[in-house]
Amino acid sequence: MARDPRFDILFEPVKIGPVVARNRFFQVPHCNGMGYARPRAHAAMRAVKAEGGWAVVSTEEVEIHPSSDVAPFIEGRLWDDSDVPALELLTQAVHRHGALAAIELAHAGMNASNLYSREVALAPSAIASPANYYPAQARAMSKSDILAFRRWHRQAALRARRAGFDVIYVYAAHSLSLPMHFLQRRHNERTDEYGGSLVNRARLLRELIEDTKEAVGAHCAVAVRFAVEELRGADGIAAGEEGREVIALLAELPDLWDVTLSDWSHDSQTSRFAAEGYQEEFVRFVKSVTRKPVVGVGRFTSPDAMLSQIRRGVLDFIGAARPSIADPFLPRKIERGDIDDIRECIGCNICVSGDFTMTPIRCTQNPTMGEEWRRGWHPERVAPRTGDDAFLVVGAGPAGLECARILGQRGHRVHLAEARTQLGGRVTRESRLPGLASWARVRDYRVSQLERMPEVDILRGSRVSAQDVLEFGAPRVVLATGARWRRDGVGRANRRPIPGLEPGAGCVFTPDDVMDESLPARGTAIVFDDDHYYIGGIVAELLRARGLEVTLVTPAERASAWTVNTLEQHAIQRQLLELGVIVMANHNLVEFDGAQATLECVYTGRRTPLAAQSIVSVTSRLANDDLAVALAASPDALRAAGVVSLAAIGDCWAPGTIAAAVYAGHRHAREFDRAPSDAVGFEREAI
Ligand code: ADP
Ligand code: SF4
Repeated sequence: MARDPRFDILFEPVKIGPVVARNRFFQVPHCNGMGYARPRAHAAMRAVKAEGGWAVVSTEEVEIHPSSDVAPFIEGRLWDDSDVPALELLTQAVHRHGALAAIELAHAGMNASNLYSREVALAPSAIASPANYYPAQARAMSKSDILAFRRWHRQAALRARRAGFDVIYVYAAHSLSLPMHFLQRRHNERTDEYGGSLVNRARLLRELIEDTKEAVGAHCAVAVRFAVEELRGADGIAAGEEGREVIALLAELPDLWDVTLSDWSHDSQTSRFAAEGYQEEFVRFVKSVTRKPVVGVGRFTSPDAMLSQIRRGVLDFIGAARPSIADPFLPRKIERGDIDDIRECIGCNICVSGDFTMTPIRCTQNPTMGEEWRRGWHPERVAPRTGDDAFLVVGAGPAGLECARILGQRGHRVHLAEARTQLGGRVTRESRLPGLASWARVRDYRVSQLERMPEVDILRGSRVSAQDVLEFGAPRVVLATGARWRRDGVGRANRRPIPGLEPGAGCVFTPDDVMDESLPARGTAIVFDDDHYYIGGIVAELLRARGLEVTLVTPAERASAWTVNTLEQHAIQRQLLELGVIVMANHNLVEFDGAQATLECVYTGRRTPLAAQSIVSVTSRLANDDLAVALAASPDALRAAGVVSLAAIGDCWAPGTIAAAVYAGHRHAREFDRAPSDAVGFEREAI
């Protein structure tokens, strides 16, 4: 298809200082858990974005000096010349696809743990390290420290140019960088020319921009990433005040302004807490203060929303991290007029969890993310089929849908049978919970692709039995029958059923009941969360909204504890408290008699009674593996029916995240025809 001419403006080239971006799609810096430790994987991931049409493809923050060592996190590294070749892999790969390569030079200041380098952290003023109660303090920088820092930054810029970068960032955002710490009143108590007035606090940022321009500005564009708003009131930088003043002060100095919110949790808000375009209200002033091109983000996945940003003069470039992760080919799809093929980010921040867990990035929507090099997976291409076998895929949740999509793309005949009339499995059900509507995109993208594949037929309302499988006659059978929440309280803290939570107890509910709208009618309820991801918090929120008195009890130290890895925990707990949910952390549920629960402190073992009329048990799930067990027990019948392979994937194999289910479906469709092997199955980077 041809591009809709309405979108032509998105494909105009834009000059950034001495370089030209081929269009207005700008992949802004984002972490990926690969960085300096996995440079080939990193280069291949960025190359796919360049191939997908992004005009500028950026690194994550790149440490410029051993005193900016953010170990154990894995970011980029440019401490000396020995780091140049690894980054060259990236620039060469990006250039091969016609994009500009950008590098975000960063010094983390007081946020650097320096656990690896064992350097002392640096800050404008002596201050305790903010990072997770890390027992260290940063030292106030002397004038000679400032000169040294400027020298390191300049050397890093020169090395970045040698590595082939076209755009070089000065980073003053997310409260994760020295020049931003100098800007922040709460971190800068200096009395010299680097402290006090805003002009003084912005001096270091000005000097860095000037130094970088002087060092590389003839060949490379110099960009500034700046947080215009910290969302912390008078204590922080605010868009209407110092955020604006900083840009006015330095307006024409850089070649590009990349403007955003701070901290990272405000910048990368999930769809549960912010809608597409959520940064506009804070960044819309920027273009009235500078003539330089402006890039901003807002989880943009809709071409119309992008167009509107440009048309209304809010931004010059559509910045994206997550939308480029979920669909590296987003620009190409708009360019070709294949808008229905866009795989929209759902705003879940599973991608962020890769950074927090120091493992390669992953994505719920795009299972090839992070697998480009080590498994050779491409988000748009897959090897054609190697045989003629037809498939029966049972279950159309994320695992079954993705498996059928890739099998269909490979050219296999696929029958996808789903017991319910609605497709999507858990994503359909969970997307009805408060804040999770966007999660239905996992289903919608796949169903819209499947409906256009003549090789695939979808059988709705078809519950499949073992006998049906044998009679169906498909030689390859994939079971993706999902999982259900347990009712008996077994989970992490309790490996045996909790007395009182036996099946049939009318006052005991599960998240499945809640999603089926069968929930406690009124009174007092306990949500016992021993799952620790999002469901417990959401169920508590939903019951509270229905007027119940809710106590969320969890053995963890806070509500929805794992969501620290998706940048949501703070917002979730704040929301629960503001709704009037009582959060009782560090307590296990040991018994429930229908009127009173017994809680136990995880430290002291001290028991406390808590009156409640009902309990929602959010602990763990049971695989729906009856079909798999029944079929696996009848190898002769399978053989007689002509079934050559039987596989169980996704939650029915082992309950996990939606991202894991999509990945399992994708992997099976790509790899089912590989010879069985004990090999690792993916490439590893030997240092
Ligand atoms: P996953 O996350 O692994 O994809 P889900 O629980 O989201 O798992 O989806 C599983 C899907 O399988 C559900 O939509 C469910 O209705 C369907 N299903 C379960 N058992 C059968 C069966 N025997 N026949 C057809 N569909 C089934
Ligand atoms: Fe979007 Fe979730 Fe993928 Fe991140 S993991 S890019 S938030 S869909």
